[in-house]
Amino acid sequence: MHVHIAKGSGFCFGVKRAVDIALNAPPGTAILGELVHNSHVTVMLEKKGVITVCSVKEALEAGGISNLIIRAHGEPALTYEKAASLNIIDATCPNVRQVQDLAKRLEKSGKKVIIFGKKDHAEVRGIAGSLEKPVILEDPLSLKDMPLENTAIVFQTTQADTIFKEVRRVLSGLEEQGGLPEIHNTLCPVTSDRQRNAEKLAEKMDMMIVVGGFHSSNTARLAERCSYVTETHHVENSSQLEKGWFKGRENVGIAAGASTPDAVIDGVVQTIRSWD
Ligand code: SF4
Repeated sequence: MHVHIAKGSGFCFGVKRAVDIALNAPPGTAILGELVHNSHVTVMLEKKGVITVCSVKEALEAGGISNLIIRAHGEPALTYEKAASLNIIDATCPNVRQVQDLAKRLEKSGKKVIIFGKKDHAEVRGIAGSLEKPVILEDPLSLKDMPLENTAIVFQTTQADTIFKEVRRVLSGLEEQGGLPEIHNTLCPVTSDRQRNAEKLAEKMDMMIVVGGFHSSNTARLAERCSYVTETHHVENSSQLEKGWFKGRENVGIAAGASTPDAVIDGVVQTIRSWD
């Protein structure tokens, strides 16, 4: 059995940067929310004495916490205000920061900003929270039912690139009405490349194993895209692999989400190879 790993699997540069910042944080540091949706990373940080808190209030009440890490997803302006008495260590991904800054500039120039993404996604809350009157949409078809004059569209970074195409398609059907939005493709190229690489590999594989946290939306999307092409299993780590899946397989592909550490990917590869 041959095991092939999709190009670009594992930590993206934004997550790697955030993890490095957290691993080198001074004593008395808390992270606001899970740094990445991966229990392996959370445990690794806890061993270093970096705790995870759910709110600024929890950090303030924890005792002994003087530093607060903002994770790669970013945070709304209000979080920075609430945490003003703490030393903020900002690990917001530069790509996400660019979207926040762009959205602010667009609003300042008089545009109504439409954010495409899930309302409860941390990054969407961060972008929306830096604006006065954001509009958050998940379904491109919603554009048909709203006034579009003087609007601009940005995208939560880690969505599949199909969302951009779908928005363009819906808007092309509305061209006659005029006054269409400015569209800014703020999707993260790292995510789109990862999805394309995984899909390409899946086309040649008997089966794909997608490795990453069950709460990680970019990993879930990878698994979904691969499952359209070949049999696919999503696991968080090697302990969830089932020997029976690999019986009679010649080529097995591995793809991993942006928050999956190399050690977890290696564990999966080694376990599969040990069953060959
Ligand atoms: S997926 Fe892209 S936007 Fe998200 S943290 Fe990684 S590099 Fe940044």
